[in-house]
Amino acid sequence: MKIDVLSLFPDMFTGVFGSSILKQAQDRNAVSLNVVDFRQYADNKHDKVDDYPYGGGAGMVLRAQPIFDAVEDLRKRNNTKPRVILLCPQGERYSQQKAEELAEEEHLILLCGHYEGYDERVRKHLVTDEISIGDYVLTGGEVGAMVVVDSVTRLLPGVLGNAESAITDSFSTGLLEHPHYTRPAEFRGMKVPDILLSGHHKRIEEWRERESLRRTWLRRPDLLERQDLNERQKEWIREFERNG
Ligand code: SAM
Repeated sequence: MKIDVLSLFPDMFTGVFGSSILKQAQDRNAVSLNVVDFRQYADNKHDKVDDYPYGGGAGMVLRAQPIFDAVEDLRKRNNTKPRVILLCPQGERYSQQKAEELAEEEHLILLCGHYEGYDERVRKHLVTDEISIGDYVLTGGEVGAMVVVDSVTRLLPGVLGNAESAITDSFSTGLLEHPHYTRPAEFRGMKVPDILLSGHHKRIEEWRERESLRRTWLRRPDLLERQDLNERQKEWIREFERNG
């Protein structure tokens, strides 16, 4: 997969894209990450990418021209039809399902806004998706782009080893994940549940399934509304309701 990120602040990505699993994923050629400073596409002498808003008011607005030219150039150079994703607080709320959908694509272009935002013609005529990473306003789209790149890259084939497997992660199964423990078996008087030390794999699996359901019931009951629960899970929920 190829991911191009259009940003006015490419240095922000150095640490995140150059570390840990995102770095390994690039080293293994599972993904190619490219940050493009779209200022270089500005068609004026001073490389100006923003301007005052028509109608007046506070803040500067990103001009359409450098963004259109950058996207068109990247499309032509890669000979692809990429999803063009605008990071935007007014967009669709980002989710694991969206990450899974994007991980199927061969080429993504992420657009990071700044200042007051961008000329509306970018939104209307250039982008295929608008993504918000939550109901709050950031200074720019860079942190959101990092969230999207990280969550998509870890789903690509060959990126996660067994140690970081994504299969049972929260949201992948539709539920929150069960709790984890590691050594020692007792820490400051706090004990690991006996079942996890029993070596009884079938019972451990059942405990994990039940705890995953319990967590979801307690913390995110909204997720259960979308789940097709089996009889055993329904019985567990009745038990949680009885015992709290
Ligand atoms: N004036 C805009 C509004 O009220 O909708 C907010 C602009 S914000 C200060 C600047 C840029 O940060 C946006 O263009 C967008 O790229 C990014 N941004 C801010 N909040 C975001 C969020 N929750 N999710 C994704 N991107 C966000």
